[in-house]
Amino acid sequence: MRIAMVTMHSSPLEKPGTRDAGGMNVAVLSIARELARLGIEVDLITRSNGAASRIQIADGLVLHELRAGAYGVIPKEELYLATEEFGSAVRNLITQAGRGYDLIHSHYWLSGVATLPIAREFGIPHIQTFHTLAALKELKSAADPSLVGRRHRAELELAAASDGIVAVSLAEAGTLEGIQRSLENRIWIVPHGVDAELFNPARAESSGEVRAELGIAEAEPILLAVGRVQAHKGQDLAVRALSQLVVGSGVEATLAVVGEPTPESEGYYWDLVDLAAELDVGQKVKFVGAVSRERLADYFAVASATLLPSKSETFGLVALESAASGTPVIAFKGSGMLESVSEGESGMLVDSREPRDWAKAIAKLLGDAELAAALRKSARDFASRYSWVQAASSLSEIYSTVLSRSQAVT
Ligand code: UDP
Repeated sequence: MRIAMVTMHSSPLEKPGTRDAGGMNVAVLSIARELARLGIEVDLITRSNGAASRIQIADGLVLHELRAGAYGVIPKEELYLATEEFGSAVRNLITQAGRGYDLIHSHYWLSGVATLPIAREFGIPHIQTFHTLAALKELKSAADPSLVGRRHRAELELAAASDGIVAVSLAEAGTLEGIQRSLENRIWIVPHGVDAELFNPARAESSGEVRAELGIAEAEPILLAVGRVQAHKGQDLAVRALSQLVVGSGVEATLAVVGEPTPESEGYYWDLVDLAAELDVGQKVKFVGAVSRERLADYFAVASATLLPSKSETFGLVALESAASGTPVIAFKGSGMLESVSEGESGMLVDSREPRDWAKAIAKLLGDAELAAALRKSARDFASRYSWVQAASSLSEIYSTVLSRSQAVT
């Protein structure tokens, strides 16, 4: 079986935590690697910012970077203008380069808009994974309304016309079911996995190095906020909670904010820096930028807790990576992270967005060594229930089902 996995707007090889690269990039690359190990040939297809290229990532795993639209980076908000051209480039890949596919799996709405017509043209079954949906209320309120409207309509069409839909979480499947009634036996949930070898409590050995790098004293607890910096992720709540904790209650701790702002969120990033200074924690908040997967694994293992103040998350890969590292999470209850956080097992949930309530939860964890030790252990056990191998094997079964259904019809 040879499949195409399309991520038009962002290459799976892009550094997560920067620009438009996050959980989707990590998930697509990790799953593709495991599918290839299962003997399924995988072509990853993305848009190139420069010349077209072909990169052999592993046995049975190739990345095609195709030219479409203007040269250079195109803001995500304008990329839909290049979907037709990108679709043509995929058509050329199939016809001129002779890459035939049994199935096309599109990730994010832009990839679906570009390649569903190509899949139809060649009679190839099409599977769609959205990762996020315009129907999420935070997106509706934050973004350009005309783009949200266009995207919402496209998502409805893709949900109606695709041969299969793979949601990454119950939250995503629930949102989909709310907007599209006839999904019955065309929708599956395949939760993300985690690389539990990389994200491992043993990396706490790097404590001295990490602390020297960040300028944090030996005994001082480290709190993390990991993810691209944007209002939706709510890093401001983490800064406010830290101020309540340090200035309000005299508890020593440092917050490391890991990740770069998304292209439209530079203003939020600078506001965050100012906020930390205004709240007298300018020295206690370290803005680290984006770090490599390995460095991030060190940070998780060394930290006392990972704060997840996002207003909503489709899956919340960071929560699982932290748990695998043996570091409890403190997450917003309303964020919808039903798979990636388990209350009392991988961490604590806070049912409010009041900094005081967050400070209380953090103080409880930092002040109760027994609770922290129990959570560190159970968090790791919890995360071990998720793996990329398992995600890939579920997907390969779904691919076979969709393929056999489409063969039965033709
Ligand atoms: N990430 C990273 N380096 C960073 C910041 C983030 O590798 O500096 C990774 C993080 O480990 C996770 C992904 O980016 O795998 C973010 O995924 P998540 O689902 O938490 O959020 P998303 O960005 O998809 O909204």
